[in-house]
Formats: sequence, C-alpha cells, structure tokens
Amino acid sequence: MRIGVLALQGDYDKHLQMLKRLGVEAVPVRTAEEVRQLDGLIIPGGESTTIGKLMRRFGIDEAIIEKVDQGMALYGTCAGLILMANDIEDSDQGRLGLLDITVRRNAFGRQIDSFETDMTVPELGPDPIRAVFIRAPFVTEVRNGVKTLASINGQPVLIQRDKLLASAFHPELTEDTRLHAYFLELVQT
Ligand code: GLN
Repeated sequence: MRIGVLALQGDYDKHLQMLKRLGVEAVPVRTAEEVRQLDGLIIPGGESTTIGKLMRRFGIDEAIIEKVDQGMALYGTCAGLILMANDIEDSDQGRLGLLDITVRRNAFGRQIDSFETDMTVPELGPDPIRAVFIRAPFVTEVRNGVKTLASINGQPVLIQRDKLLASAFHPELTEDTRLHAYFLELVQT
C-alpha cells in the first residue's frame, strides 16, 4: 500500500506524521509521476488557489483524476476539499471536480475564522472527534451519491463518495488518528 501526501504547499507534514503514527510510511508527492505510483493520496489544507495552480502547472491534476478513475483513494482536508469540489461559489480557480458538491470558501466568516468543536461521527465510533476549523469552507450543497458523515448546524463538514473522502476540518492537527485510519481502510477496499 503506497500512500502519498501532496506536498506542494500547506500543512502536508502533519499528515505525514499522522500516517507514521499509524505505521504507514507515506511519501511527500510533488510530481505527476509520483502520483501515478500511489494507492491513496491526501491533499492537505493550505491555500486552494495556490495548490490548484501548482497542480495544473505540473500536470498533477490530470494524474490525480486518472488515478481516481483507476481506483486510487483520495482524502482532501479543507483546501483539499475545495479542490475536490466541482462547484466553488464565486470562483473560477482550478479544481479537480471529483465530488458533485458546492462549496463556499472561508464560509465561517472573519470573526470566527478558526474554531474547534467536538463532533460525533458514527463511522468512527461513539467517542466524538475534535474538529479543528481554520478559515474553513462550508459545503452548501451535496449531490449525486455524495454521503454526509458529519455536519455542523446542518452544514456537511465530512463527506464521502466511494473512495473519495473530504473534510472541512483538520484531523491531522489533533492526536486522534481515527479519521486517517478510516481513510486507510478506504484505500484497501
Ligand atoms: N481558506 C483556504 C482556502 O480557501 C483553506 C484554508 C485551509 O485549508 N485551512 O483555500
């Protein structure tokens, strides 16, 4: 099982550390060729416009779309979620368009642009997870087979379609490895 974390910009190192704690030696990924060797990829938080531009420049966007088509699992956190969406409100920025959802960037507003909350995710068991939001997007609409695993005030913040997983929050900034473990299960299905 070969897992990569897209390391163009953003907090990829935290994901690498998290996977290491789960006993997985994940690799930082910076080229399309490296993407082609993966069974699973994480797109970290950061600045979605920047990551999107760099993905396009290096042909990584096409490589990801092709690999997902062949069964690669993909998990996007925050900016990663934005990049997986096919509809980004008021933006024509580059994207992968792999999830049929609409997202609104920086949707929690400037005053409360970062916050944390405890949230129950049935798929991860009865204990709540600590969800850390940093200038996070809202998912305003979910379509075509995309499942909501957790929401806040009725807004989906953790979604899944088959082997595609996306969260508006950052589990890699906590000590809780369950969501990464859940992703590794998707890689192996
Ligand atoms: N606000 C960022 C964006 O729109 C995402 C923030 C994050 O990834 N923590 O791209």
